[in-house]
Amino acid sequence: MRLPIYLDYNATTPVDPRVLEAMLPWFTEHFGNAASRTHLYGWTAEEAVATARKQVAKLLRANLKEVVFTSGATEANNLAIKGVFEKYSYKGKHIITIVTEHKAVLDTCHHIEQLGGEVTYLMPDSQGLIAPQQVADALRPDTILVSVMYANNEIGVIQPIREIAELAHAGGALFHTDATQAVGKLPIDMVEEGIDLLSLSAHKLYGPKGVGALVVRQGVEITAQMDGGGHERGRRSGTLNVPGIVGLGKACELAQKEMGTEAQRLGWLRDRLEKGILANIPHTFVNGNTPQRLAHLTNICFEHVDGENLLLSLKDIAVSTGSACTSASVLPSYVLKILGLTDDQAYASLRFSLGRFSTEEEIDFTLQHVLEVVERMRVGSAV
Ligand code: PMP
Repeated sequence: MRLPIYLDYNATTPVDPRVLEAMLPWFTEHFGNAASRTHLYGWTAEEAVATARKQVAKLLRANLKEVVFTSGATEANNLAIKGVFEKYSYKGKHIITIVTEHKAVLDTCHHIEQLGGEVTYLMPDSQGLIAPQQVADALRPDTILVSVMYANNEIGVIQPIREIAELAHAGGALFHTDATQAVGKLPIDMVEEGIDLLSLSAHKLYGPKGVGALVVRQGVEITAQMDGGGHERGRRSGTLNVPGIVGLGKACELAQKEMGTEAQRLGWLRDRLEKGILANIPHTFVNGNTPQRLAHLTNICFEHVDGENLLLSLKDIAVSTGSACTSASVLPSYVLKILGLTDDQAYASLRFSLGRFSTEEEIDFTLQHVLEVVERMRVGSAV
């Protein structure tokens, strides 16, 4: 068993060896530019990109023309929100989102406000869920976009996407979802669920870092945010990252085949860890404790322990407090604060996120390690 045990799959995943294998020839032997139309090197690369486009589209029940490759989900979220705002601001300038979104959505919305847009930020309940009625109440004649994340990166709660999309459409708005933590983990059907724009990132589903996509339903227009050679049907200029895109495609293909059994196995392991902690360590509770939650993740608050000491003492496991993307700052997780936690409770909350290579042995070791560390930390304290 390799220490520290990696339980931070929501931050990033290792590249699946099958994905790496598929990518390798596209760095060396097949190095062509997918936009080169005059020779075999270019055509070969273009064909590989076309295959990947099919693999991504198939996983989400989208059409291949709808897939726009990007550098990841941050760029996809920027492109979706700014692209829709610029294209449709003649109709209205109002956007609805939720306060527990990833910064890639929240900061983009703040940018929109600086451009003269108006944004309504909905508050979830104490488990992190929003009610579709909140969206209905916030819709206005000038609302052009509703953007609600599929599954939260810190607590894993899954929002009622289908209902929200339906309400957005009834109100004349488009619906975007940041599905970065859901793609390859949950079955997603963009047609059935009424999703107009969807953001995803390869490195959350065993693909490489620095590649992702925005899937844009046919008929929905966006203004490009990157000007240049007109790649991706004019929606995102820039030479395509062929090996990365091949990797994303392969990762999607594998996820499509394996996500059902994988979610079941990880759900069983997660429950074993979560139940073990709750049953054996007093003063613990789950953040975002709802059945509408990703199967591979649990976020647990260990009350009456110092969060920083806890993380330092748990040296044999790699977990996170809050999200890795904001961990450069020492502020408590804004998502946990929104759920009603105090600063101390937020600091003393740990996110355990399991993945494809997590084993039963690792989970049992983790449980034992956490029990021992928390017990040791609490000795001599009042609890
Ligand atoms: N949205 C969510 C929900 C995420 O978890 C992340 C990754 N932390 C992102 C967006 C950003 O994705 P990327 O790393 O591809 O820019």
